[in-house]
Amino acid sequence: MNSRIIIAIDGHSSTGKSTVAKLIARRMGYVYIDTGAMYRAVALGAMSDGLIDEDGTIEVAALEKAVEDYDVEFRNTGEGGRSETYLNGVNVEKEIRTMKVSRVVSRVAGLPFVRSYVDSILHKIGSARGVVMDGRDIGTAVFPDAEFKLFMTADAEVRARRRFDELQAKGEKPDYDEVLANVRERDYLDEHREISPLKKADDAVLLDNGSMMVEEEVEWIMKRIADEGYDR
Ligand code: C5P
Repeated sequence: MNSRIIIAIDGHSSTGKSTVAKLIARRMGYVYIDTGAMYRAVALGAMSDGLIDEDGTIEVAALEKAVEDYDVEFRNTGEGGRSETYLNGVNVEKEIRTMKVSRVVSRVAGLPFVRSYVDSILHKIGSARGVVMDGRDIGTAVFPDAEFKLFMTADAEVRARRRFDELQAKGEKPDYDEVLANVRERDYLDEHREISPLKKADDAVLLDNGSMMVEEEVEWIMKRIADEGYDR
């Protein structure tokens, strides 16, 4: 029997990483960590504190101080014990998924002090292994020694359509062109930032899920995890 491992799932925005990561975590009996939620919570905190204006300009020095007081954590308060994101004790799970936050999050995530703040939390959580983390830089920068790495991608239009449907299901009134532009902008910012840009780790398995169903993806991934000699 193998010891518990770290499963790093990175990739582009709206590739369904979190859906797949949660299912893999359940199958493995592991904890699931949504690292994007942490960046989203910091972005929301910055917005609430008036440190980002409408066009995305950030008061960097003020945010660097403010971040020291942001306490981001996950609690199992959702339906069926689902994990939800809290910022300074307040449940922000719904608010962090809105377009308002999506518009600014990649700029916030590009700031070095924000990345080191999130990284320090992730290292604490991951030190016990037995986790599935999804994000942009888990297999390349946060846990380059993760035993299993997956990189997910799909065409921008396919991803924008998924995101659009998701936002609509949540009661938002998204504009498809804005969603597509946001997906493309986040790809660009994530791939071109100076620190830990989004890229596939050399040792990551590539999954283009443009025409796959979720169950199919999970089976595909579980088989590869088993092929590498890891299972529950
Ligand atoms: O995964 P999600 O789309 O919720 O992530 C929100 C944003 O947080 C991403 O667009 C990216 O800019 C940033 N992020 C990151 N590194 C991670 C996870 C997310 O830079 N590990």
